[in-house]
Amino acid sequence: MADQPRPCIFCAIAEGKIPAKKVYENSDTVAFLDINPRSRGMSVVIPKKHYANMNDEPLTSSNVFQVSQNVVKMIKDSLSPDTVYLSVMPSQEVPHFHVKLYPVYGDERPLSESQAVKASDQDLEAISNSIKSATVNLFSAPKGEEKSREPEISEEDARYLRTRAEIA
Ligand SMILES: [Zn+2]
Repeated sequence: MADQPRPCIFCAIAEGKIPAKKVYENSDTVAFLDINPRSRGMSVVIPKKHYANMNDEPLTSSNVFQVSQNVVKMIKDSLSPDTVYLSVMPSQEVPHFHVKLYPVYGDERPLSESQAVKASDQDLEAISNSIKSATVNLFSAPKGEEKSREPEISEEDARYLRTRAEIA
C-alpha cells in the first residue's frame, strides 16, 4: 500500500468525485473556488486531464490560461476587487497543473512574496544570458527559413535610413 500513488484531488474534482464550488467549466477545463482562500473569491483553474507541468500539454495549458482570463473577468465583474493576481506554482502536494487566481482588495496582498535572493550584477548577467540563449534555441527558425525572416529593405531605403541616422 505504501507504494500506491495518492489519489489526485484535482482529478477527483474534475471528475465530480468530490464536491467543489465550480465557477466555470468547459470540455477540458474547470475553475473552482479554493477551499482555503487567501482572499475572497480565490479560484483555481485546472485542465481535466492530469499532468504536472505547463509544458507537458502546451495546447491544453493555453486553454487553461484562456479560461483563467475569462474567470478573472468574471471575478472582476462580480466581486469588484482592485485587481486579480495570478500564479502558476507547481505543487508537490497536488502535482496537477493549475493556475491560481487571487482577487486583491485594498491593502490585502494575498500572494505574499518570499524573501528575495541575493544576486550580484555578474550573477544577473549570467542568468540573463543563460535565459536568452535558451530562447534563441526555442524560437530559431527551421533551416531554410532563416533568410525569409530578415526584413527586406531596398537600397534606396537603406540610403535614406543612413542619412537619417547621420542627422540624428
Ligand atoms: Zn490530477
